[in-house]
Amino acid sequence: MKPNKNYSSLKESYLFSEIAHRVADFSKANPDAEIIKMGIGDVTRPLCEAVVDAMKKSSEDMGQAAAFHGYGPEQGYDFLREKIQSYYKSFDVTLDLGEIFISDGAKSDLGNILDLFDKDNTVLIPDPVYPVYVDTNLMDGRKIVFADANEENGFLPMPQDDVAADIIYLCSPNNPTGAAYNKDQLKVWVDYALKNKAVILFDAAYESFIIDPSLPRSIFAIDGADKCAIEFCSLSKTAGFTGTRCGYTIVPKNLMAEDMSLNKMWLRRQTTKFNGVSYVVQRGAEAVFTESGLKQTRENIAYYRENANIITKALDELGWYYTGGKNSPYIWLRCPDGMDSWAFFDKLLTEIGVVGTPGAGFGKNGQNFFRLTAFSTHENTEKAMAKLKKLFS
Ligand code: PLP
Repeated sequence: MKPNKNYSSLKESYLFSEIAHRVADFSKANPDAEIIKMGIGDVTRPLCEAVVDAMKKSSEDMGQAAAFHGYGPEQGYDFLREKIQSYYKSFDVTLDLGEIFISDGAKSDLGNILDLFDKDNTVLIPDPVYPVYVDTNLMDGRKIVFADANEENGFLPMPQDDVAADIIYLCSPNNPTGAAYNKDQLKVWVDYALKNKAVILFDAAYESFIIDPSLPRSIFAIDGADKCAIEFCSLSKTAGFTGTRCGYTIVPKNLMAEDMSLNKMWLRRQTTKFNGVSYVVQRGAEAVFTESGLKQTRENIAYYRENANIITKALDELGWYYTGGKNSPYIWLRCPDGMDSWAFFDKLLTEIGVVGTPGAGFGKNGQNFFRLTAFSTHENTEKAMAKLKKLFS
């Protein structure tokens, strides 16, 4: 038996365990110190009532012979796909039902999609980045080139004609930087992909945080994207499904790789390797897209947005550079006085008991940056920002 040796090129994933260790050591030495966590990317608000009701009812269905559901369609139930189709229609994107695939979350499909692509492709990934894009390609042994996201380009890198890439990852609004592409910028990426016969893997996991109506919620709002892009979306942050697990992937029927249809390949892949998301979860997901579900989930997002406002207001008062926080739950700030992101982490932890995420954990361009998230409570966010202002003013 020979192992996949590519696994030995993976770096130890130490970011969140290192954070947990440092917090545990500090708490042990200072048992009375209050710790405010603003580093995690997990939601804290519970599922909304519409979702809970739908899941209760469908659980009861599963206990009755007449309403019981066994294996469902691998690509998801039509009742949910139709709701997603209408949701996209609400921002003027028309999808064929056969282009929508229900998943157990964006992370799985971001990894699974690589089944469709030769290992010999070159992959372009922004830096800093959600680490899953890098690690899933390293596991396959693909060559990776990085696109620098930095202060000069507002953490929104654009294509470079001297860089040839076959698979391009874009995430907007972005994790970790919170920056979001506008339509003109995405059009440049789409034209670059079409010209180079590349595919864009577009991660829209945070689209529901967009409030600026001029910003695209989907890559398919851009002309030509149906011939060069696949979109991944998730109910994790939209509707608090991080533990419930449901997302969707859009693979256009017009998307070809040489003479092969990626939509047909993905359907074949899913019907072979995936048996669908549970009926109860899909009923809960369907409820997200009902009138009451949309209203209730938007209330939760508004709650997080208020936290983001509290954070950005404090940073404005301090006069610090940051991206995000407007159309995203993430705020990406430059550490003061040229501080390294781990030194800044230690300072916040030990002097004011606030925990964030050091930017260095997301790539080399995060060395002097720091991520705060809006997923805490109002009370704790206010408290943390008051302490931050006091410490640095
Ligand atoms: N994509 C990005 C950019 C994320 O930040 C996350 C989770 O934090 C995911 C995808 C994963 O989403 P899911 O919970 O749907 O797997």
